[in-house]
Amino acid sequence: MKQVLLITGSSRGIGAATALLAARAGYAVCINYVRGAEAAEALCARIAAEGGQAIAVQADVGDEAQVARLFEEVDAKLGPITALVNNVGVLEHKCRLADISVARMERVLRTNVIGYLLCCQQAVRRMSTASGGHGGSIVNVSSVASRLGSPNEYIDYAASKGAVDTLTIGLAKEVADEGIRVNCVRPGLIHTDIHASGGEPGRVARLAAGVPMQRGGEPEEVAQAIVYLLGPGASYITGTFLDVAGGR
Ligand code: NAP
Repeated sequence: MKQVLLITGSSRGIGAATALLAARAGYAVCINYVRGAEAAEALCARIAAEGGQAIAVQADVGDEAQVARLFEEVDAKLGPITALVNNVGVLEHKCRLADISVARMERVLRTNVIGYLLCCQQAVRRMSTASGGHGGSIVNVSSVASRLGSPNEYIDYAASKGAVDTLTIGLAKEVADEGIRVNCVRPGLIHTDIHASGGEPGRVARLAAGVPMQRGGEPEEVAQAIVYLLGPGASYITGTFLDVAGGR
């Protein structure tokens, strides 16, 4: 059966590394983005040049209608979805909780939590053997922030990742006998652009000495864990958390 994978937020960072690795493993991949059309198209071209199949689809995962269209495009252009990586994650400038506006809380929770819930809904409707599907696999990308809490940086973001962890536990149990596995990867300090969004592009280097392995991680190292959990090697694993954080 053709393996069809949607990775949300995959124009760059961990999502892009996962798209490349998964395409090399034989998945037809949908690369989703909001603003980075050029990067997404370049990644598609690279996958095609290596003999793989990829499409790029713009959609904001926090918008129900756009998520519905995203999955319809996957149906039409790649075929029935067999795998989903919920990877989009946003954070804003670091500050104390007292200084976080309600508007910011709503933006972060809409993208990081409602976005994951909406994509899981669409995927389960298609994958569930209870509704005529052939099963599938979902990996949610959370963060070690869900257990560290991100004090003085972004408690709103950390709380959103706590919700992702809980979503993983609940959905894994809800669909375990419908052919769908749901797991979670929790990265630590990884070299991507997300730290610039928080106002500190050099954050990984500053904090690396506090990581037991004494370094930040690479997006490709997180991608390995995601692709493992997606695939047949993890066939008896569901509701599990895999921290990719150098011991942090
Ligand atoms: P990143 O480099 O900032 O990339 C974020 C991706 O999400 C981009 O492709 C961006 O695309 C896309 N995106 C943003 N908002 C979107 C939306 N509303 N709808 C669709 N796509 C959207 O992030 P990353 O560091 O790779 O993070 C990936 C995941 O790992 C996130 O869930 C993050 O919380 C988690 N994580 C990262 C770290 C780390 O240290 N990097 C640590 C722990 C957890 P456009 O710019 O094109 O819109």
